[in-house]
Amino acid sequence: MSSENAAFYYDLAPSSMTSFSDKYICTFEICQNNTSFDSSWGFLKHLFDIHRIAVNNVEDVLPFLQEYIDYYKCKGIDSFEGEITILGAGPAGNDLILRNELHKEKLDKLLHRQEEERIETKARQCLFCKKVFTNKRSYVRHMYIEHSFNIGAPDNIVLFDDFMSLLKKKLDENYVELKKEINLNDEQEILSEKETWEDWWDNSKEAQTLSLFGQRYFDTPFDAIMEVKDEFKFDIKEFVIAKGLDVYERIKLINYIRRKTSELSCITCNTKFKNSDTLKDHYCNTNHIFLLEKDNFVSSEFLYPILADDPLLWYVDELFGDC
Ligand SMILES: [Zn+2]
Ligand SMILES: [Zn+2]
Ligand SMILES: [Zn+2]
Repeated sequence: MSSENAAFYYDLAPSSMTSFSDKYICTFEICQNNTSFDSSWGFLKHLFDIHRIAVNNVEDVLPFLQEYIDYYKCKGIDSFEGEITILGAGPAGNDLILRNELHKEKLDKLLHRQEEERIETKARQCLFCKKVFTNKRSYVRHMYIEHSFNIGAPDNIVLFDDFMSLLKKKLDENYVELKKEINLNDEQEILSEKETWEDWWDNSKEAQTLSLFGQRYFDTPFDAIMEVKDEFKFDIKEFVIAKGLDVYERIKLINYIRRKTSELSCITCNTKFKNSDTLKDHYCNTNHIFLLEKDNFVSSEFLYPILADDPLLWYVDELFGDC
């Protein structure tokens, strides 16, 4: 294979090839799997300089560059003395099918990851201050409201932590025109330009929150917490502060109560009831709600959400004050 006009790595500016999860390994025998690269540009340069391999229309394969090169490596392609091999330069056919398949695979993986990230609970510190947030929505919202830093609708960002560490790196490097500098791969930036975080927030029905001790739904997690105070005279915020609960203990508390409510049993004495009305009567006729102790929900099993998407977990910081 040869071509006069193939797009080689040096046709691309290194900065135009920023990708979030850049980590490439050269698997060719002479490199013995121990030559690694932090950027696709570095990897491509190595392939060209050492292995005399170039890639036609290289931009198209960047999202799955590692898999693409590995495929050809397994097919037995290797360096020829001095001669340059250009992948994908022949007549359209198998290479195009390969590119399409790898593209689809990558997209499936990202969509799957996006689903996982939507329900993931993980502590993250604000890029600008010391506050810690357990859900990426409250995290993004905080940076938007407190620091006027808008990165778009959090649910639409895949590989969120890679994205944030890239942002942090860019901030550290003191890039002024941050947004222009970051070249997001198509799959990674599903969010359209027009959709701002505010639009997302306004349109979001996702903050609909199931009552902690009943079966009603509320428009926001804040309303759900108010219900507990109004109906059950239980001030969770006061409880959280009095017990000095940290982020993880707050999460456990919410999940513990959710578990008990779903089992129709009392959070303190464990008595099981026939329906939520009789359970509510029990809470109103005893002081069991107020006898709740940390020991009840200390087990790490309660770190896992009982509800797939629980707005109370997104806002543990805003709902109960700083940790
Ligand atoms: Zn190599
Ligand atoms: Zn902050
Ligand atoms: Zn009880």
